Amino acid sequence: MEQCLEAEILAAFPEFLSEDGDTPEDCSFDCGDGWYQLIYDLCSKLATLGPETRVRISSAKETLGALRISAQTESEEARTLINDCEKQAGHTCETCGDQGRMHSYIHEKLMVRCDTCWHNYFEKMWETID
Ligand SMILES: [Zn+2]
Repeated sequence: MEQCLEAEILAAFPEFLSEDGDTPEDCSFDCGDGWYQLIYDLCSKLATLGPETRVRISSAKETLGALRISAQTESEEARTLINDCEKQAGHTCETCGDQGRMHSYIHEKLMVRCDTCWHNYFEKMWETID
């Protein structure tokens, strides 16, 4: 994820990303910009649950093509929102945020991409081979 987008989420929602003296910077995002909006929206929804709902997101990263959000919370509602966000990422292009689907490259590399980004990915790969 672009550093500035990550910083924007950290600045907008420090309450979900830090606790007990931890700095928001401890939270790590490791995914494409296309999922930035999903994570931002998730934090916005978590904010509507009220201050008594304690959530701490320690990381959000791409694992085997899927968005995995690691969070500590005792709130069922928060847990549901987090699960929904992960599911939504399954059909959101990780690169640009358009509607996408899971693609696999020689059964090893899995990624959610829209058709355009998937095409671009291959173009780039062929350039590297030349
Ligand atoms: Zn795309």
